[in-house]
Amino acid sequence: MFFTIKNFLKAVLFIIGIFLITYLCIDYIQRKNNTMDIEEYSPISTLKVKQTLLTKSKYPFIDVHGHPFPTVISDLSGLVSEMDSLNMAFMVNLSGFRGLYLTKSLENIKRNAPTRFGLFLNLDFETIDDKDFESNTLKMINDAYNKGVMGLKIYKSLGLTDKDSEGDRIKINDPRLKPIWELCGILKIPILIHSGEPESFWFDKDKYNERWLELRQKPGRYMGNSSKYPTYKEVISEQHDIFRNNPQTIFINAHLGWMGNDLDALSEHLDKYPNVMTELGAVLAELGRQPKRAREFLINYKERVLFGKDYNPSQEFSEYYTYFRVLETDDEYFDYYRKRHAHWKMYGLSLPDSVLKCIYYKNALKLFPKIDKNLIK
Ligand SMILES: [Zn+2]
Repeated sequence: MFFTIKNFLKAVLFIIGIFLITYLCIDYIQRKNNTMDIEEYSPISTLKVKQTLLTKSKYPFIDVHGHPFPTVISDLSGLVSEMDSLNMAFMVNLSGFRGLYLTKSLENIKRNAPTRFGLFLNLDFETIDDKDFESNTLKMINDAYNKGVMGLKIYKSLGLTDKDSEGDRIKINDPRLKPIWELCGILKIPILIHSGEPESFWFDKDKYNERWLELRQKPGRYMGNSSKYPTYKEVISEQHDIFRNNPQTIFINAHLGWMGNDLDALSEHLDKYPNVMTELGAVLAELGRQPKRAREFLINYKERVLFGKDYNPSQEFSEYYTYFRVLETDDEYFDYYRKRHAHWKMYGLSLPDSVLKCIYYKNALKLFPKIDKNLIK
């Protein structure tokens, strides 16, 4: 019989052999031609310049953009001691969710670290067609406010992926959402809103795309599929519509409103919408690569920018060091902590103390009068 175990094993070994030889040949050719993957290339700079390693901020700071999920259950002592070591006075947990989760989280904070954390409420927009949507949602906001919630966080899913009962995309400027924006204005609680994504996520995934590495590592972030997603301009203009139509409501346009790479546009944006603040979460690398313009921008708009990092528990607390170094020092040519966000180097902005104080805590204290001022010494 032709098919025997022995023949089968021989065939398997033959195939493995071919693969191994091919692999070794490719490896040999790559070495010979001195080629490698872009992710592998990590040259160590030979530049000898001043290095200032800051492990805590010059002034106490308030991080308005965090996702420290353990606020719902843990005793928080670990988190608090990490915060102390960084000089972080207070952290806003934007992922407060709603209902029982929110109540438990508020109770836990009250029990374990009442002065160090605040929560933002999160809503479900996909029930927008329910006949009680408006009354239920407004009641939820009022109740959360009465229990001590500090603001409302709007996730990027609104405008990108949230669908109504017909399966249609819910626009950020949908008129049915207006009572929500208005109520937050009446209650004087800010709305932190992350809309869209970096514009590069809509561009071709080719060698010219600045976020090419990110799109390779996180392919789900690609937005260029027009049958699935709106255009960048659509989403962003819907977001700006609600800023314009609700001038009594304070909005925090997250991640520098994705204009960290165009500070002229961001300046114009802040001039146009006096009810809008912004924050630095996950976009510090945009400032660190243009230290002269970024310094000028932060000096001019020092009262409009809040400190945020977009912390979540998968990250190292040492990533905060890079924030201190970019904002405070005049160091040159140093690394950012995440290659897919910056394959370029950072430069310190050497901000004046008056600007540091605004960004680190003064602006946040103005926005959130409930934060204990004694935390800032
Ligand atoms: Zn975030």
